[in-house]
Amino acid sequence: MTAMADQVKNIRSQFPALKLKFSGQDFTYLDSTNTTLKPQVVIDRIQKFYSEEASNVHRGGYQWSAQTTTNFENSRQKIADFIGAKSSDEIVFVRGTTEGINLVASCLSQSYLKQGDEVLISEMEHHANIVPWHLLQSKINIKVNAVRITDQGELDLDDLKAKLNSRTKLVALTACSNTLGTITPIQEIAKIIRQNSSALFLVDGAQLITEMPVFVRELDADFFVFSSHKVFGPTGIGVLYAKKEILEILPPYQGGGSMISKVTLESTTFNDVPLRFEAGTPHIEGVIGLHAAIEFLEGVGWSYIQSHKALLLKEAQKALSTIPNILFYGTAEKKSPILSFNLKGIHHSDLAQILDEMGIAVRAGHHCTQPLMDRFAIPGCVRASFSIYNTTEEIQKLTAGIKKAQEMLS
Ligand SMILES: *Cc1c(COP(=O)(O)O)cnc(C)c1O
Repeated sequence: MTAMADQVKNIRSQFPALKLKFSGQDFTYLDSTNTTLKPQVVIDRIQKFYSEEASNVHRGGYQWSAQTTTNFENSRQKIADFIGAKSSDEIVFVRGTTEGINLVASCLSQSYLKQGDEVLISEMEHHANIVPWHLLQSKINIKVNAVRITDQGELDLDDLKAKLNSRTKLVALTACSNTLGTITPIQEIAKIIRQNSSALFLVDGAQLITEMPVFVRELDADFFVFSSHKVFGPTGIGVLYAKKEILEILPPYQGGGSMISKVTLESTTFNDVPLRFEAGTPHIEGVIGLHAAIEFLEGVGWSYIQSHKALLLKEAQKALSTIPNILFYGTAEKKSPILSFNLKGIHHSDLAQILDEMGIAVRAGHHCTQPLMDRFAIPGCVRASFSIYNTTEEIQKLTAGIKKAQEMLS
């Protein structure tokens, strides 16, 4: 066996969900873009939290709670280091990418965005990076503009340049499309934005975070958001990174405990950042579980992650291309192992259902990217996505499964 085959076997053994059976068959999980499976170390860490450490944070003066507060803040530091933030003060805990973007939208709408201002997104954004801006469109009358994408599913940088103007106050783009897999050239985009406008730049990092090392300072993003559950961690917790000088001038998001400095019956003064944005008891085990997930990822190592994913992408593209009448969406040069497709004359849900009966989990639908479905003039598609625990055998199983389903449905 090759070194890589050994390593994938070792990695698979650490994910209990991979031992499940469905329809009496081995479980083939090809939906990591939706959410990644969880390794045993993350599960164990959360179990330990609830057995031994489940006190509140930033509150009790006794040792037990102080230790949990230390663990919680150490996790914040770990995450800051993981994404190359200047300090842990730039890390705000939120429920996920969706809440991170909503937080930014809510705070900017109170102080920065005014009627007539423009927010520039793209045709390949997840609904999480579209709907919050539409809400501001109705609330304070901003305008939402979208950068076009090419037929290959790449961002049209000329169109980006053309759509930047003096009214553009924020550009909000995904660094990796959850439907097309396209990896957008964030550094180059940041340069274009800086040269042609004074807009702030928000990066949706929900997918990029499992693709390659992220250094937010190099990316030159003002905001960077991601979800723990897409990077082997628990659900319900995510990260909003923002440059400290920006966080410091943003108004609070929600009011409550922890985010205050002093409260009288008449008025409130607020805590320093980042706690100013974290009202109420936080998702403590989520934060600690995410810390464990990052340590797990670092243990696996970027070198394996990147080479294994590149191999799976190449093999999957090759294998699926042998299927007659298959149409792919998203053929960017630089992409992650996410393959979206349809079979001519076959509904995406029917195909996914037959695959499910074979123990193969893929996602069918619009993938929270309806404008992108409109862009390709389709109601939906099937998406197979691959992560560190997937194998080339699973690609063969998927390919054979699709061929069989095609026969059954034609
Ligand atoms: C999953 C995803 C989101 C939404 O993340 P949540 O964890 O559901 O908040 C946003 N953008 C992209 C690119 C995603 O893949």
